[in-house]
Amino acid sequence: MTRTYEVRTYGCQMNVHDSERLSGLLESAGYLRAARGSTADVVVFNTCAVRENADNRLYGNLGQLAPVKAATPGMQIAVGGCLAQKDRGEITRRAPWVDVVFGTNNIGSLPVLLERARHNGEAQVEIMESLQVFPSTLPTRRESPYAAWVSISVGCNNTCTFCIVPSLRGTERDRRPGDVLAEIRALVADGVLEVTLLGQNVNSYGVELGDRFAFGKLLRSCGSVDGLERVRFTSPHPKDFTDDVIDAMAETANVMPSLHMPLQSGSDRVLKAMRRSYRRDRYLGIIDRVRAAMPDAAITTDVIVGFPGETEADFADTLEVVRAARFAGAFTFQYSPRPGTPAADLPDQVPKPVVQQRYLRLAALQDEMSLAENEAIVGRPVELLVATGEGRKDAATARRSGRARDNRLVHFAPASVEVRPGDVVSVVITHAAPHHLVADGPLLDVRRTRAGDVWAARTDPSPGVMLGMPNVGAPA
Ligand code: SF4
Repeated sequence: MTRTYEVRTYGCQMNVHDSERLSGLLESAGYLRAARGSTADVVVFNTCAVRENADNRLYGNLGQLAPVKAATPGMQIAVGGCLAQKDRGEITRRAPWVDVVFGTNNIGSLPVLLERARHNGEAQVEIMESLQVFPSTLPTRRESPYAAWVSISVGCNNTCTFCIVPSLRGTERDRRPGDVLAEIRALVADGVLEVTLLGQNVNSYGVELGDRFAFGKLLRSCGSVDGLERVRFTSPHPKDFTDDVIDAMAETANVMPSLHMPLQSGSDRVLKAMRRSYRRDRYLGIIDRVRAAMPDAAITTDVIVGFPGETEADFADTLEVVRAARFAGAFTFQYSPRPGTPAADLPDQVPKPVVQQRYLRLAALQDEMSLAENEAIVGRPVELLVATGEGRKDAATARRSGRARDNRLVHFAPASVEVRPGDVVSVVITHAAPHHLVADGPLLDVRRTRAGDVWAARTDPSPGVMLGMPNVGAPA
């Protein structure tokens, strides 16, 4: 009997990328993706360790699955990702019905560990301290026919005091540019129009290869890939962000005018305590140079409020930088102590009610800024890559959704012609809201693409993957 599988993904884009590899590994081992709502023979949790309640959520989910497993002969449960790398055997001690625990450095071992657990009738815990193979070399099952994540590095050499990633994903390992470009060409041959270059800190890409300017060069090389229409990247780091990258973005036609650059705090005192290795003036300087080179670039960010020791004056600095930077959007986080990080042991932990109040004030200011930035685009024509499912909220309007070149989310009026995910349409923006734009007029143009053909040909719109918190950026 063909066994079925389901992958549950939590956390950042790196985990979304790894989950595509886990699905690819299982399918190349003969498993079939379980139909949505059915009980899979193998349930894999790809976990995140960034947020305080990450543990509670995992053990809660495992608890819910225990009776299902007891009632389903041959069912197996596997736990991987950052929390597995951190907790190791503790997971099978707290949840003895788990069959396999594997780490961030050996995701390729999953099929063998599942077989070994079944054969030996006992749980298998295998955690590696260093990367075994680059996940990008493993088989994959991509979720989107028109957009793909391409990992350029794993791990991180920084030591931000609130972050657990370096201790769970190790120091930075860089993929050779040739391997990255070969994967991109293969993806484009498959119909992919957009790639997102992925790394914990893409700006230090090349350190391991001895080339300080490798990232800017890689962006330029993407410009020579025929058929590749859109290049994005995440996550950059202000301390390593150099002008050659700004020039490469501005001078390479298929590199998109969108930049997600984490600020984390606007206070130099707090940035020092976070060990971010840059200060607010450097951050704003980069923003100014990006805008000078690409006036229409959309800049978004991550901000943590309530970091230990943050005073009202520090928070005021953050609000000031947010006003000055005119972000198109921001992921805002309430600081939560992560056991095992230096910040968790810092004195002057900010009381929760104060953190929540600051969080609401920052979110309100950012909504105001986002709306003002979005209103400036009303009346402009924009090109959209039509998306699957994103934001098709109200059946009443039957609006479709797509991403503009600056990565803004746009809901557009249905067309008289069939428009498929992966196709490209041109519209005029008619309304603005803080988190999206609307185009209610007629379509200016519809370009049917190979990606759209691939999507239309896909008979089984991917059933089994359940995203925990998509797009929640790992700290970066
Ligand atoms: S926050 Fe980002 S840059 Fe800092 S240590 Fe974590 S992954 Fe690295």
